Amino acid sequence: MTEKSGDETGFDIAGCGLPDVYPALDAISKVTCAALNVPGVFLSVSVSEDDEVRCFAGVSKADVKTCAELIGPEVARAGILQIGDLKSAKRSGVRKIASAMKSVRAVLAVPVVNGQGETIGVIAVLDKKSRRFTVSDRAVLRDSAVNISGLAVLHQAAADHQAAEVELKDAMEALPDGFVLYDKNDRLVHCNRRYREIYKESGNLRVPGVKFSDLIRQGVYAGQYSDAIGKEEEWIAQRIHEHQNPGKPIEQQLPGDRWLRIQERRTNTGGLVGFRIDVTELKRQERELSRLAWTDSLTGALNRHRFLELAEAELTHSQRHFRNVSLLMLDLDNFKKINDCRGHAAGDHVLRATCESWQKQLRGRDLIGRLGGEEFCVLLPDTRGDDALVVAERLRKVTELQKLSYDGEAIDVSVSIGTAVYENIADTITSVIKRADRSLYKAKSSGRNRVEANITLSQAKKPV
Ligand code: GH3
Ligand code: MG
Ligand code: MG
Repeated sequence: MTEKSGDETGFDIAGCGLPDVYPALDAISKVTCAALNVPGVFLSVSVSEDDEVRCFAGVSKADVKTCAELIGPEVARAGILQIGDLKSAKRSGVRKIASAMKSVRAVLAVPVVNGQGETIGVIAVLDKKSRRFTVSDRAVLRDSAVNISGLAVLHQAAADHQAAEVELKDAMEALPDGFVLYDKNDRLVHCNRRYREIYKESGNLRVPGVKFSDLIRQGVYAGQYSDAIGKEEEWIAQRIHEHQNPGKPIEQQLPGDRWLRIQERRTNTGGLVGFRIDVTELKRQERELSRLAWTDSLTGALNRHRFLELAEAELTHSQRHFRNVSLLMLDLDNFKKINDCRGHAAGDHVLRATCESWQKQLRGRDLIGRLGGEEFCVLLPDTRGDDALVVAERLRKVTELQKLSYDGEAIDVSVSIGTAVYENIADTITSVIKRADRSLYKAKSSGRNRVEANITLSQAKKPV
């Protein structure tokens, strides 16, 4: 309960941030005093489920207590309390009021009733002299009661609204995912803690009122979006386009190889809600599954299917950009003998170790695939035939010089390599492989542990 005498100001209901009802109640009590020409007024009303406000003017503390404890219940019971002269009161309830309020002679009090007909308070005017209250006095007091009731309803609505808002914000904070709300002008309205945690490199930019486009631009230059690096303006334009046309979920890469799935939806009022789900673990599993599906489990090289797929794509790309591509076919020499003499496990060890040593010699963009058994294929993008021969020779040498042993005994390994280059528009990965295979055959038939090329070096200048 909150109490305030009309002589003081600055009242706020329990500091709850709701609009202050006291000035309006104070005004009503003063107007009522003046209209009924009385020195004292007392009013008490429940403005919300658990907050009752009392407001009084020209009434002593002791009389305020009597009004609350005796007049309030009496009015609620009888519907009105009208006593022109307390001194001549006969009813016991009224006599109690008379003996409690020595300086008061006349009282007029009516209930404050809400829209459902429930009594939520009382307003009483107190006079120091006896008087006859008129119909108009009663009408004025009832009007004041109606105004007080209206005020209480508004206050209750504001309290309900505030409680709903608090509950909604609590719910948003409790969400395990990042949540953000933009208004129809694309300004940030609210985001939860998880959202700010997710965007830790630019969390301080994510404040209410900031425009999405400004946020994205500043976020990019704060290093928030790993997938924007090197193509900042293009990325910003694309992200703004996606945001303005929400629908399908999109994925976003953040620093530390973290991944988000973003889902955005328009609201009925033209705003936008967005969810951010951390899918880093999912992404890692997805990559691992792809790796398992695409690579040969023994050597880690691409499997035949994936190699051909990627090599074909690289060939098409290179054709379009008039770039050179070369291909190497590698086949270990007399590998059957290793298996036969040292066992299959030793053969596996040779395959694994040799492939590893080749991979160390190749660039990140080069592709190496195990086409089958002890047969491998390497695709070298942006590589002319003469450079391919240098690479092939390096691989041959590295194979020969690696010091492999199994069960404490050394194993000698060598490889034969055939090279080919992409020559013309009619070439496919199959045709280039075929030519490299022919070179390989030549290398085998010329004594093994050799590199043979399919073309003359002068041919390898530029594809036509
Ligand atoms: P060449 O110099 O003419 O290439 O002779 P080669 O013995 O290397 O060729 P061949 O085709 O006669 O034998 C290849 C052998 O590779 C036969 C096969 O058992 C073995 N091989 C194929 N896949 C694997 C594998 O995964 N592990 C092991 N250890 N051996 C394999
Ligand atoms: Mg072989
Ligand atoms: Mg073979």
